[in-house]
Amino acid sequence: MSSSKSNNSAKSAVADGNSDANDEDKNELCPGFKDADAFVKHGLGAVLSATKESSGLPQTGDEYDFYRSFPGFQEFCDSQGDQILHCMSQIMQYHGCRSHIRDQNKLTGVEERFDLVVDSNDVILERAGILLDEADGVNRGQKPVMPVGFQPPKIVVSSWNRKGLGSGSRSETFRLLHAKNIARPQLKFKEKIDNSNTPFTPKIFIKPNAVKPLPSYFTNQQIRKERPEDLDVPAALADFIHQQRTKEYVEDMFAHPYQYELDHSTIAESLLSKPEPQMYKPVEETKLSFVDTLEDLVALNEKLCKLPEFAVDLEHHSYRSFLGLTSLMQISTREEDYIIDTLELRSEMYILNEAFTDPAIVKVFHGADSDIEWLQRDFGLYVVNLFDTHQASRALNLARHSLDHLLKHFCKVESDKRYQLADWRIRPLPEEMVQYARTDTHYLLYIYDCVRVQLLDVNHGQHGLIQRVWNKSREISLKKYVKPIFTEESYLQLQRKQKKSFNTQQLTAFRLLFAWRDKLARMEDESTGYVLPTHMMSKISEELPREPQGIIACCNPVPPMVRQQVNELHLLVQQAREMPLLKAEVAAQNKKGFTPIKKTEVTLFGPHDTSKTSESDLPHFPPNEVPVKQGALFSEDEPKTDDDELKGSDLLAQAKITVFQEPETQDEQKSMSVSQMKARRIIESFENPFRMYLPSTNVRVNKNAKFDPSSKIFEISKRWKLQSIEQQQKEQETKRKSKEARQQAKKVKEQRTKAKQSYQESLQNVATVRQQAAESAKADGKKREQASSPVGEVTPKPSKKLMKAAETPQKTEAPPQESFKPFDYSKSDLKVFAGNKSKDGTQFDPNRQTGNFKKKKTPQGQKSNFAAGNKSMSYMAGKSERGFRHNWPKR
Ligand code: AMP
Ligand code: MN
Ligand code: ZN
Repeated sequence: MSSSKSNNSAKSAVADGNSDANDEDKNELCPGFKDADAFVKHGLGAVLSATKESSGLPQTGDEYDFYRSFPGFQEFCDSQGDQILHCMSQIMQYHGCRSHIRDQNKLTGVEERFDLVVDSNDVILERAGILLDEADGVNRGQKPVMPVGFQPPKIVVSSWNRKGLGSGSRSETFRLLHAKNIARPQLKFKEKIDNSNTPFTPKIFIKPNAVKPLPSYFTNQQIRKERPEDLDVPAALADFIHQQRTKEYVEDMFAHPYQYELDHSTIAESLLSKPEPQMYKPVEETKLSFVDTLEDLVALNEKLCKLPEFAVDLEHHSYRSFLGLTSLMQISTREEDYIIDTLELRSEMYILNEAFTDPAIVKVFHGADSDIEWLQRDFGLYVVNLFDTHQASRALNLARHSLDHLLKHFCKVESDKRYQLADWRIRPLPEEMVQYARTDTHYLLYIYDCVRVQLLDVNHGQHGLIQRVWNKSREISLKKYVKPIFTEESYLQLQRKQKKSFNTQQLTAFRLLFAWRDKLARMEDESTGYVLPTHMMSKISEELPREPQGIIACCNPVPPMVRQQVNELHLLVQQAREMPLLKAEVAAQNKKGFTPIKKTEVTLFGPHDTSKTSESDLPHFPPNEVPVKQGALFSEDEPKTDDDELKGSDLLAQAKITVFQEPETQDEQKSMSVSQMKARRIIESFENPFRMYLPSTNVRVNKNAKFDPSSKIFEISKRWKLQSIEQQQKEQETKRKSKEARQQAKKVKEQRTKAKQSYQESLQNVATVRQQAAESAKADGKKREQASSPVGEVTPKPSKKLMKAAETPQKTEAPPQESFKPFDYSKSDLKVFAGNKSKDGTQFDPNRQTGNFKKKKTPQGQKSNFAAGNKSMSYMAGKSERGFRHNWPKR
């Protein structure tokens, strides 16, 4: 208990020493200390003994109240308390923090004072962290997340930001570099984020420009929202019921909603011929609009619908979110630039589908691969008629294919990528970032012209090359977003990249830590790199520290969640240590591509006994049945689940403990110790019924039932399998046929007109978003009828004003429970990220404070306001740890 507190305080002491030694040019450190080491040594000792003493004090609730009835004790407490407060105030003052902690004014609530302490700790630790990083050379590469000197008046959470200004620009710069105090945008999202370990299903519920209507799965909100978890029946039964309900939709659930339209689209003759490049307007003469209301978004959509082309780019944030957040959309027309606050308009962005899927409008992107996925994931947006200038650059064989290069090459514009990795959640956006973002699309239409000219010129006027670029671009727009899925093998893919050969204990630790961080990241909606960077995970696994402190020592700087859950981590490492020690063959195999852990079915639980099921009885699941990327955030690797390889791996690491072993079982179960079983159960908690859709041979949902050939679930899953294979074959055939289909273009056109008609008809009965927006602009705010949506259940969720409409039809139908266990911030343990105040309403006294700290250190310590970590990004992970799983076209 006291250890983690002492550690914490010790760290700040250390940090202080360093900060003074490194950062300022003063030569003497502190009176009486010749160097930082001496100071640290002394400081650590003092802190340790103080901690020891403080944990020896009578506890609140029992002894304390008793002792408190003695005046002598009371007096002593008061005077000591006062001294401590004085000390704290001085430290805070020294660091330029607000320090009214000693004010005897009882009106200043204990909450605020607690906040003060937390904030000050943040400042101090942050500074220490930065300096330590700098000393380590860790963060040198990714400096300016924020422009120096930028003041974020509207996003400050704590008042010390204002007060602190006097203390010099240095601390200001620190805060900004780390983009501290950014309220989590997720908190404002109308639709909860779904971090569950289930495949992504498209968000689209209304399909403009449809040739083939949207499958009923998407228009039937009921089906979409009824989720197995909500059924009050045993899991296996819930799965079964849910599968029954959804089986007819399975194909649709994973299909690209615009597959048909994209397959049947043809490039207009005019787009294959040589254009007259239209020079971009100078930036200074171009109107820039910031779009952050529904009204403006609707107006923008209207405008876009009338244009032959426009340019699009996105900015993205992935560090403080599990899946990532599209934070900004830039759009440039020939005349104007727009910047859309997609954090604000997240639930409304879908209306742009009208322009984005209109085959008559060209959407120009540069390097759209990620953008296409982000658009689907966050907004349900799709692109029909994409032109990717990155693909054009490749086809032209230009020296480099970055936007930077194209800008230089065609526009003689020098851009700098300083802000590429900026924290794009920041609001209001600083001018520098606005300009940067704008540059990404401002010149793009001109570049689009230029590359088309060249594509034709280098090909002697023939269409071949430019057609190839259009085709490539179409392929990109056909990309489907795939959610990172945690499987039993995910960790191996990552471990393989570590270039370290691990023994069985180390590998087990890596596996357990990987599972821990994946789970926590999903739960808290943080990137895995934020929870525990891979290099730290690797180091802990390698060293297998015996003590919690050892774990802390492997991490520099210590991630907040590691600090909070160090005891939990300690248990995991201990479990790993209990593994029988085998050499590094396993790791060596990994490198060769073997998957040592084959099937990790827990056969102890569940309705069916599958322990006798031999492997050949198990259904075979080819890896790509359903689009699922394996390995959480690091899934660039092709999943290796080849069964032959599996069968060849008879070098499996096998443990000697066989307590749980069924003689016949060939799986890893046999090597499970009690603690391993516990670990397994932790991983088991990732289970969910939608594993049914997952590709892995180790599908573990419905585990036993599913592998039991006598069970219904088995039957169904097999049938789905077949259906899905059929579907894939169909899809491929469709692609082959897409050429022929062009001849049928006429017919398609007719169909399209029809579909458009019916789409429009469907809109007749109801107010469109546009109308709603128009109304909302007209009417006087609050009393507005919200029309039911074209598809009945789904009502476009408009602006806040619209949201307030009380007597809406939407209200009458109880919103179906979100399933897939969407991320619920109200349940998050880390609410404090939003700057929530401590709930503790009692008076401030040092002992009380101790009580607070104690709470933090309980195993469920997440609940706490742990001083250092919670409120701020007190540390930054290395570049490679940012949780990106995309390949970026270089800028
Ligand atoms: P861009 O298309 O260059 O504007 O990049 C869009 C988003 O992709 C940025 O906001 C970043 O979040 C992310 N991004 C771009 N390049 C990189 C990179 N080299 N490493 C990590 N993230 C990147
Ligand atoms: Mn981009
Ligand atoms: Zn960009």
